[in-house]
Amino acid sequence: MVPSVMPTYGRIDIAFERGEGPYLFATDGRRFLDFASGIATNSIGHAHPHLVRAICEQAARVMHVSNLYRIPEQEKLADRLVASSFADTVFFCNSGVEALEGATKVARRYHFHNGEPNRTRIICCTHSFHGRTLGMLSATDKEAYREGFGPRVQGFSHVAFGNLNEMRAAISDDVAAILVEPVQGEGGVNSAPEGYLRALREIADEFGLLLIFDEVQCGMGRSGKLWAHELAGMAPDIMASAKGLGGGFPVGAVLASEKAASGMKPGLHGSTFGGNPLAMAAANAVLDVLLADGFLPQVERISALLRGKLEAVVKRHPTVVEEVRGTGLLLGLKCLLPSGDLQTRLREEQGLLTVGAAENVLRLLPPLNIEEAHVQEAVKAIDTACAGLARDAA
Ligand SMILES: *Cc1c(COP(=O)(O)O)cnc(C)c1O
Repeated sequence: MVPSVMPTYGRIDIAFERGEGPYLFATDGRRFLDFASGIATNSIGHAHPHLVRAICEQAARVMHVSNLYRIPEQEKLADRLVASSFADTVFFCNSGVEALEGATKVARRYHFHNGEPNRTRIICCTHSFHGRTLGMLSATDKEAYREGFGPRVQGFSHVAFGNLNEMRAAISDDVAAILVEPVQGEGGVNSAPEGYLRALREIADEFGLLLIFDEVQCGMGRSGKLWAHELAGMAPDIMASAKGLGGGFPVGAVLASEKAASGMKPGLHGSTFGGNPLAMAAANAVLDVLLADGFLPQVERISALLRGKLEAVVKRHPTVVEEVRGTGLLLGLKCLLPSGDLQTRLREEQGLLTVGAAENVLRLLPPLNIEEAHVQEAVKAIDTACAGLARDAA
């Protein structure tokens, strides 16, 4: 008999009843150190007092009014995102995939507006993940996600991530935009090679294309900068944000330069829930924390500490883990034994939550405000679990 919750996920048999900072407490009394953060989403940990207060106070005032009216909380968040990014204008939605659908519409409409309606194709990368709508399944590089869901949505093609020759070769006069994740998450925690993002900027400018970044996972402070592309010293034309943006409250955003958004006008895109006062209060509260003096530099420091300790774990257990991947607090352990075994052992024996990724990589996505003691606790757990796996395999 089908469960009342449609079985689209293979779920782990744990239910949580409470969270506090980087810890989650299960209904069976167990405590876990959460290096999964609801898949890079609980960016400031669980039950952060400032976020909780903002949501409660806003809920008691007004939750939802629709975009038929001005929404002051939305204007405030848009102003702040504009002030702290390349963007001049922002559209709010409710998830990552919606932000990418919106980004694609903005890019195509730009060319339509400029008298080039045939420019519709989006060049994407291998190992990319952009979400699960019918449209974004075509942008995502995973055939298994598409199987059985009907004709593939046209207008997306793929080249090898990091390969500039392939990117140039794929460009013809039907291309609207290039879409990449500055750091791939689901695809195996792959950071863009040195110089890649800057070269994409040059290619986009040379051919009159728009550059779209998917920072749904790597953005909002996870890289140690507010936006991951800042590390490359350049900027896209359009960017999708979500996951960490609401700190656990569902909210997504399409950020765009004035030029890139020049084709958009009233009536061309919309969302009933998008940017409602409650979601905006949550995201504004998260931004208060991230933009506070010293917060992002501390993310850089703590991620360097974690990375250094993980490199040492790799050296100590060369039969279990091969390398540390990623940027900031979007880190991956490339495993030699099945990464699922390491994940299970960490959870069941060490009380540490992690997330899988493609290519046999285990993702570590702690809240951005973890402290040194949490790093020590996690590394000790990983070290012990690796030692156990090595012993069992011997
Ligand atoms: C999670 C994710 C998405 C999809 O976000 P949803 O909120 O699940 O729709 C898109 N792109 C990237 C890079 C992601 O990590």
